Amino acid sequence: MNWIMEPERKVPVAGEVDLLVCGGGFAGVSAAVCAARLGAKVMLLEKYGFLGGLVTSALVITTPPLDNGINREIGGRMKDRGVYVPCRHSGEESEWLGMHAIDPEFVKYEFIRMLQENGVDFLFHVYIAGTIMEGKKIRAVVLESKAGRQAVLTRMVVDATGDADICAFAGAPFRLLKKPMTMMFNMVGVDIPRVLEGMGNWGNLRSVVKGAIERGALPFDLGIEREFGAPGVHAEKLVYDGEINVWSGNLMNMDGTDPKDLTRAEVVTREHAMRLAKFLKENVPGFEKSRIEMTSTQTGVRATRQIIGLASPSGEEVQKRVFPDTVVKPYAYRTLRLPFGSILPQKVENLLVAGRCLSAEEEILGQLRLIPVCSATGQAAGTAAALALAQGRPPSELKINEIQDALRGQGMDLGLKA
Ligand SMILES: Cc1cc2nc3c(=O)[nH]c(=O)nc-3n(C[C@H](O)[C@H](O)[C@H](O)COP(=O)(O)OP(=O)(O)OC[C@H]3O[C@@H](n4cnc5c(N)ncnc54)[C@H](O)[C@@H]3O)c2cc1C
Repeated sequence: MNWIMEPERKVPVAGEVDLLVCGGGFAGVSAAVCAARLGAKVMLLEKYGFLGGLVTSALVITTPPLDNGINREIGGRMKDRGVYVPCRHSGEESEWLGMHAIDPEFVKYEFIRMLQENGVDFLFHVYIAGTIMEGKKIRAVVLESKAGRQAVLTRMVVDATGDADICAFAGAPFRLLKKPMTMMFNMVGVDIPRVLEGMGNWGNLRSVVKGAIERGALPFDLGIEREFGAPGVHAEKLVYDGEINVWSGNLMNMDGTDPKDLTRAEVVTREHAMRLAKFLKENVPGFEKSRIEMTSTQTGVRATRQIIGLASPSGEEVQKRVFPDTVVKPYAYRTLRLPFGSILPQKVENLLVAGRCLSAEEEILGQLRLIPVCSATGQAAGTAAALALAQGRPPSELKINEIQDALRGQGMDLGLKA
């Protein structure tokens, strides 16, 4: 690679806060709200003009139950508006997870309200491009926007970028995963009873799609290695009648931190989405009057950088063990827990992570990327950040029982004896 020297320059300071939450997905919003409720002066930074992360930008609109801690609150707000409903699925795993569908437009709306109600300052349309360190601490986060390059000074940071961007900038260890990328899209005008009459169930629709690809009737040969496991309908019953969420197949071996790969993914997955929708409309009874209502703003990236934190529990531990330092229990109905070390990066003192870039063994990461886990880690990170700020010490030096008490105070049942 060629290099060029960038001249040293002064960067204007756009603000100074106690806590910067970087990224406004489910993890970031949960972290910001929970920290603000404990008295921290919080600012959240987000590259898009809306919140919700992959749920709103990648149309990931089905989630396991939102039933513990801040998840219960989010689910309750959506339920009150009639936009959080149990969905029926084609896949057995989905049935087991008890999936619910949400309307992403209300996520965008309610998340802004939650930040406002809790006094969280936020900036949209800013791209976080670096950190300025003082020893082992992040002193400032550097932004790029229409206003040029700016810095925000801070005492503590929660990295909720999903891709561990801040950890990478600040020099915290991570490994890079290449997980399948998928463009989700919604179709409307689908006569669901008629489709089911012909197919029996949605699993059979997947077989029809797969068969068409295999015999060349649905051309999916776009030159990138991919898995045709199950392009097809993701949820039979969404919030609105006649609407389905479609999973247009996986692109494999793509690096979600490389703009070249991301660009190829946008081109290829959009082509997949259009071909699949056309195939369904022309070949499957019940789809005659269907159309794509919307494709996702970005191709869904499941995983990229995964931090190597102070703890990296195995799948068995996460599902069975009651860690003495449990700070995350995403579900009331399932025994899944995470220790504090899963959200504490190494080497940087005033940094926590929240969301899908957390630390655990790879075998269990698929489970730990689910939406309720991301918000629950956000709740834990925001709570610990606020306590650390109040006590003037690094998060790693906090007393665990104080974090656990604060989490209980914020409605998270950790399933431990108080
Ligand atoms: C195709 C697909 C299907 C999935 N299916 C399901 C499912 O059915 N059910 C389920 O529960 N989960 C599912 N998931 C997983 C789930 O959607 C995500 O893991 C979860 O939403 C991640 O939340 P997060 O807040 O950790 O990160 P994200 O949602 O990625 O949020 C990160 C936020 O940070 C912002 N950001 C990132 N970098 C920067 C930067 N440098 N500067 C400024 N802002 C930045 C982003 O714009 C984004 O808003 C799926 C994921 C994919 C991709």
